[in-house]
Amino acid sequence: MAYGLGVIKGLMVVLRHLGRKPFTVEFPEEVRPIPHRARTSLLWFDERCTGCSTCAQACPDGCILVETRPNPDGSLTKVRYEIDFRICMYCGLCTEACPYQAIQPGGPFDAAYNFDDMHHDKYRLTKTAHEYLRTHDYMYPHGQRAPRQVIEFIEAEARGEFAPPPPGTHAQIPAQVPGFSPEAAERAAETAAA
Ligand code: SF4
Ligand code: SF4
Repeated sequence: MAYGLGVIKGLMVVLRHLGRKPFTVEFPEEVRPIPHRARTSLLWFDERCTGCSTCAQACPDGCILVETRPNPDGSLTKVRYEIDFRICMYCGLCTEACPYQAIQPGGPFDAAYNFDDMHHDKYRLTKTAHEYLRTHDYMYPHGQRAPRQVIEFIEAEARGEFAPPPPGTHAQIPAQVPGFSPEAAERAAETAAA
């Protein structure tokens, strides 16, 4: 290399960047656009989940808890579905193991966490999933559109109206309306499934 060429190249880089805006992102006030399939978090979609527990078996950290109750028709009621994000390493093995794409990578990205607020039960997970679907044109991260009944349910929820979980799905999650109780929602789900 000719003598001084490296210095000239370095100066050219400096000159190219002189007129550019800073790249700094003032997080959390400003959030970078993130590809919707980025492995930012986990999204669990109740209406897709059969309660088979394959995800829990695939998780090397034991983050996922699934407790089910059998129904006469052979399906399972998901009594509990919980993810402990305190010990999740976001490896994605649970998402690969799920036969129904009920748990998928994606969702909110926060670089700041409250450690005591990272154990999410099925209600919290569903609230996040509904918020995700509502703000992503009702498309799941893997590109499929949510069923019409699920869309109607989430829209009723956003309007603050009570709506029973979509029949024919495993959804047990009620509208997140003021005064709503999980117990009443469980009863509504059982009535819808009957
Ligand atoms: S991403 Fe990995 S560590 Fe986290 S719940 Fe799934 S399998 Fe477990
Ligand atoms: S998320 Fe998938 S693997 Fe886990 S219990 Fe539901 S259907 Fe089964």
